[in-house]
Amino acid sequence: ARRTGRGACSPMPALTGSNTNLSPMRIDLHTHSNRSDGTTSPADVVAQASEAGLDVVALTDHDTTRGWDDAADAARRVGIDVVRGIEISCRHRGISIHLLAYLPAPEGELFDEMERARESRVTRAERMVERLGRDVPITYEQVLAQAGPDATIGRPHIADALVANGVVPDRSTAFEHLLSNSGPYHVGHYAIDPVRAVTLVRAAGGVPVMAHPFADVRGRVVGDAVIEEMIDAGLLGLEAHHRDHTPEQVRHARDLARTHDLLVTGSSDYHGDGKPNRLGENTTEPDQYERLVALATSDVGVVRGR
Ligand code: AMP
Ligand code: FE
Ligand code: FE
Ligand code: ZN
Repeated sequence: ARRTGRGACSPMPALTGSNTNLSPMRIDLHTHSNRSDGTTSPADVVAQASEAGLDVVALTDHDTTRGWDDAADAARRVGIDVVRGIEISCRHRGISIHLLAYLPAPEGELFDEMERARESRVTRAERMVERLGRDVPITYEQVLAQAGPDATIGRPHIADALVANGVVPDRSTAFEHLLSNSGPYHVGHYAIDPVRAVTLVRAAGGVPVMAHPFADVRGRVVGDAVIEEMIDAGLLGLEAHHRDHTPEQVRHARDLARTHDLLVTGSSDYHGDGKPNRLGENTTEPDQYERLVALATSDVGVVRGR
């Protein structure tokens, strides 16, 4: 049975994490706020995670740590644990790879690379809007109006502007053609090589986990050989349980993780109202989570709100 939130009037006594038989910890390690392409503020992501009955939530905005402080404050307020993370945009021979990084020190080369990606995302969005503007009503100002404060700009913000202008009914429809990777309006942005990204995350004391590694519904994915190069560079986990994976893809991710003694995670990839993904729809097993936290060597640490 699904547990309800840990509100002040919860009928359940507060259970500790060790009481796993009665109340297994519920852990969601991949969410987005409006500091990237989610629609909810970092504080509200954490509050909603608590309402959804989660004990642990990771905030993993694309290429930014700008939501970290607000999420940490909210953790203490609503009483759940928050893991500060990032989803780093990478590219290998034209193929997009998302690398989750948990608890990396927020400084150094990794962060220079993310800022470079963020700047390139602005130019890229301007160019996509220029192309789209020949055929449909849209301006870059309208795109910016859809983005949160100092957000990492992405195609979802262009999608939201198209929705606001009545061009498409929702984000998903925008991605079917107008914003598709293979469509006529698409422009790429700078993204770091995934092997180098893994190296930099480890150098920053963080835990690198490859997001939705086999989700070919999103576009082309890399083969096992590239993932093995990332493992040789220090990759520590695979996100197996994700709605964009088929059951076969989940199994393959689990098998690959077992072969290489990697962590297995599961998560919602929550984007607020921007996507159908619901908080806690996939979760990470407590033993995997505990191993993950133990593997981090930075001073960042989990924000303990419980
Ligand atoms: P970008 O990073 O700007 O290339 O945009 C990629 C982002 O768009 C991903 O992080 C997803 O959040 C979102 N996205 C990708 N495909 C879809 C889709 N079919 N429907 C809705 N959002 C999508
Ligand atoms: Fe996203
Ligand atoms: Fe992703
Ligand atoms: Zn994501």
